[in-house]
Amino acid sequence: MPVSAGGVVDVADVRAAICDETTVVSIMTVNNEIGTIQPIADIAAVVRERKAAGQTHLHLHTDGVQAVGKIPVDVRDLGVDLLSIAGHKLHAPKGVGALFVRKGVRLSARQFGGHQERGRRPGTEAVPMIVALGAACELARERIGDRGLHTGELRDRLESGIRNRIPNVGFNGDPAKRVPHIANISFGDVHGEGLLISLDLKGVAVATGAACSSGSVEPSHVLVALGIDRERIHGSLRFSLSESNTEAEIDDVLDILTEVIERLRVDADLDAGTQAVSGSD
Ligand SMILES: *Cc1c(COP(=O)(O)O)cnc(C)c1O
Repeated sequence: MPVSAGGVVDVADVRAAICDETTVVSIMTVNNEIGTIQPIADIAAVVRERKAAGQTHLHLHTDGVQAVGKIPVDVRDLGVDLLSIAGHKLHAPKGVGALFVRKGVRLSARQFGGHQERGRRPGTEAVPMIVALGAACELARERIGDRGLHTGELRDRLESGIRNRIPNVGFNGDPAKRVPHIANISFGDVHGEGLLISLDLKGVAVATGAACSSGSVEPSHVLVALGIDRERIHGSLRFSLSESNTEAEIDDVLDILTEVIERLRVDADLDAGTQAVSGSD
């Protein structure tokens, strides 16, 4: 699907893309790189229209990994058939996840051998992991309001601090339809990788692109889809916040970031100067 400059999918485009052979529409609830929230409930209405018109094999899946535990999510309100989550994105251990399957949706087996998980996936269930995910979900439900307020305040503090202190920056994603815990910011005239390493040495953990594909030199396909030019994409960082972060940490990040970027920009200027001189020889 094409997206708006903020990364939002257009429901009319989804409607137009569904053909008679379509069996699954899968759109993430929240994008992990820019935090943009997609209009899943409206897309579900389109899918329901097609089902009502006889296309009963059509299903809607959403990747809810960056939504559950961050913003209120109710599978009934969203109207999805399938929703997947990963435990370690909401403070459960790594190695456990969950798939919501609406009653009546029939899934074929992914792996064969045993009858666990209703015949879909063999192997003894990892009960401690499942209990941990359940506990993390309970905590998320209790704290979701406070988490959203807290991370949203920190995100705003970070963004306005950057806007006030660092020239030549851009903010990526939709300014309104977004989750509170992600900020994706482009810094002109610096390379994201160098910036990431300099920040890491000072104890600040950020990401370029998606964490799962770090190490790749390809520019983020998400930022490319927003129509951002390559130069700006190369200087982009993603900051992810949680309820355990503090205002003092944000202020430290602002100090460190300001200093590191000034230094990298001076170095880049010096390099450019050296090249110009040797080029004229
Ligand atoms: C992290 C993430 C995944 C991948 O989950 P893993 O369990 O880490 O492989 C999928 N979707 C989104 C949106 C994510 O943020």
